[in-house]
Amino acid sequence: TDPPGAPTDPVHPSDRIDTSVAHPARRYNYWLGGKDNFQADRDSGDVMAAAFPTIRVTALENRRFLQRAVRFLAREAGMRQFLDIGTGIPTADNTHEVAQAVAPQTRVVYVDNDPIVLAHARALLTSAPEGATAYIDADLLDPERILSHPDLRRTIDLGQPVALMLVAILHFLPDPDEPYALVRRLLDALPPGSYLAASHATYDHLPAQVVEETSAATRNGGEYGTIYLRGLADFTRFFDGLELVEPGVVSVAEWRADAEPQPRPSAADVSLYGAVARKP
Ligand code: SAH
Repeated sequence: TDPPGAPTDPVHPSDRIDTSVAHPARRYNYWLGGKDNFQADRDSGDVMAAAFPTIRVTALENRRFLQRAVRFLAREAGMRQFLDIGTGIPTADNTHEVAQAVAPQTRVVYVDNDPIVLAHARALLTSAPEGATAYIDADLLDPERILSHPDLRRTIDLGQPVALMLVAILHFLPDPDEPYALVRRLLDALPPGSYLAASHATYDHLPAQVVEETSAATRNGGEYGTIYLRGLADFTRFFDGLELVEPGVVSVAEWRADAEPQPRPSAADVSLYGAVARKP
């Protein structure tokens, strides 16, 4: 891993990688035990871990939720197309790997706005020959660009159901960014029978002091790293007009987790809500 300011790979898109401030993708990678992070990411991650000591458990549980949700969507809901926005740095069991293990013909479009994810995108383009994957360097704030992108249009058919994955991304959008309207615009472009899977950081299970310290710590993350915690009602609003599948909105650690090691981490230790819902 390069120290801050060290020359990075001269090839595009590394030129765009700013190592001087924490980035969510790299900080998450640090919590997950990965190597694709820089000093600013580790510093921000450590400050948050000091305020919220189970942050690594949280990151791992979020990742497990994503994998269980994809498996449910592929196996039980029959989804063969995924739009995964806020992909993160590739790691074990990415969306296409989990989905294509169920159905190799599955088609997956990944979207992230962080150049480090773009730099690693090759690891996401390892589709089973029967299916397809694409990576789009784009921002959730511009859903029209995502929806009209030629690589999306080439890879998934918007006339057929799509599973929209917004896992651990919506909490990077403050209300003035209109996250509810953005999710609505994406869902409006998908046919009935499509699904939304999402997870989101919450303050609901945390003592006020931890909320205070965590919020202060995330502001430390700089322009990109700030996390906007939301409560149960505000998270549930993302699913307005959709049919939540069992067990509804719960801690990511509890979502269809019967086969996971027991006992499950507490909602307070994880502090992320997760849910999956169907568009009627
Ligand atoms: N979904 C993955 C990764 C979560 S980390 C998982 O749950 O395991 C959050 C990711 O969202 C990061 O990779 C970050 O770069 C991306 N992200 C944050 N804000 C974004 C935005 N406005 N547009 C696109 N991607 C964004």
